[in-house]
Amino acid sequence: MKFDTIIIGGGLSGLISGIRLSKQGQRCAIISSGQSALHFSSGSFDLLNTLPDGNSVNNPIEAIEELAKQAPTHPYTKLGSNKFSQLAKEAENFLKEVGISVKGDARKNHFRMTPMGTLKPTWLTLEDHMQGENADRISWKKISIFNVTGFLDFYTQFIVDELAKIGTTCTTHLINFPALEHLRKNPTEMRSVNIARVFDNQENLDEFARQIKAENGDCEIIALPAIVGLSRKDAVTYLQKEIGKPICLLPTLPPSVPGIQVQQQLRARFQEAGGVFMLGDIVIRAEKEDNRISRIYTNNHGDIPFSGKNVILATGSYFSQGLIADTERVYEPIFDLDVTFSSNREQWYDRNAFAAQPYQTFGVRTDKDFRGLYKGEAIENLYISGAILEGFNAIKEGCGAGVSILSALYVADRISSK
Ligand SMILES: Cc1cc2nc3c(=O)[nH]c(=O)nc-3n(C[C@H](O)[C@H](O)[C@H](O)COP(=O)(O)OP(=O)(O)OC[C@H]3O[C@@H](n4cnc5c(N)ncnc54)[C@H](O)[C@@H]3O)c2cc1C
Repeated sequence: MKFDTIIIGGGLSGLISGIRLSKQGQRCAIISSGQSALHFSSGSFDLLNTLPDGNSVNNPIEAIEELAKQAPTHPYTKLGSNKFSQLAKEAENFLKEVGISVKGDARKNHFRMTPMGTLKPTWLTLEDHMQGENADRISWKKISIFNVTGFLDFYTQFIVDELAKIGTTCTTHLINFPALEHLRKNPTEMRSVNIARVFDNQENLDEFARQIKAENGDCEIIALPAIVGLSRKDAVTYLQKEIGKPICLLPTLPPSVPGIQVQQQLRARFQEAGGVFMLGDIVIRAEKEDNRISRIYTNNHGDIPFSGKNVILATGSYFSQGLIADTERVYEPIFDLDVTFSSNREQWYDRNAFAAQPYQTFGVRTDKDFRGLYKGEAIENLYISGAILEGFNAIKEGCGAGVSILSALYVADRISSK
């Protein structure tokens, strides 16, 4: 099977490169083994919240030069500050163009709510979600928070307590929704995604709107856990219109309905642009000729190889098994690319569970063009993007989605400029 570009991994990073290249007329295939980190994400995209030395970042664009001094192998350092700010701007437009409505700006982090009710800095937040301009202020003083009976992955009281600390008063409301009765019988079924499927049904959404309208009192805004809008993007707009008040969503524990919706939208845009998405297949090995990847083999296709002029590796980090850690080493399982890690296993972890964990910065080494290195030499047609890259700590620095999106746009541009 022949393509212009083969992308291994269909998460945020692989899909963004795939859309970019397919829209330019390339014939692309994405081979993806399963769910991505988006299925567990917050509904916000982080760009850069903290420098490695612990200093917080308000303006990611201004912080890149200092980041370069502290983290020489960071993907943003490889991009350089001009390219970084150009790609961050392009990313904001790209998401809007593919129908993912976000608010935010790379020149000023805003704040989003965590499932525990605290406010955390971030770059872009899905439009329907609650956000604040500062760590200690949101725009509303009176909020009505609604939940459905039996949904335990949403901690209303924590949120109420945290909002009280910043001067916002909440009333809480529990709706005993009859159409959820079959899920409630088995508490393991009472999860955000299953509930959202119920609210994808028009009659149920109408009934939900009716019950919220009857109870919301004199609040300025209604807040709901993110349990609507799995298949219908307009669910919040629809509820707002029916109820006659603004509505915002609050994050739940995973799985993430908004994250799955983003994944579904990106995949749909990729396929509309002519891309081939193969879900549930695993790339297991590859062959090389003249320092180029010539053939790729997958579990489902056995001896039938995939070949492409270029290949993008976007298989994620440990979570998606793009990187594997065994007792001796951390390795990349398809191409056995060079991976940065400490040979002393003791240095992988900090015993303080809340400290930055060194293993988070391990990842695949690349040249300045993000081409993967094998025994120190760049493979000519193999580009690396996303969470599998070396040199950054997505949790400590708050830069996970930014690295995945910016590196994806960058490698797509490298390929199309060849
Ligand atoms: C649980 C979790 C939650 C996160 N939440 C946030 C958040 O809210 N905001 C934020 O900014 N960042 C978040 N991050 C950081 C995250 O890494 C990035 O935001 C980003 O989504 C990663 O995208 P990716 O495409 O690089 O990798 P992934 O999303 O991990 O995708 C990799 C894909 O490759 C596939 N794959 C792996 N191996 C193979 C193979 N051999 N063959 C075929 N396919 C393969 C996997 O199935 C997966 O679909 C989160 C990370 C995790 C782990």
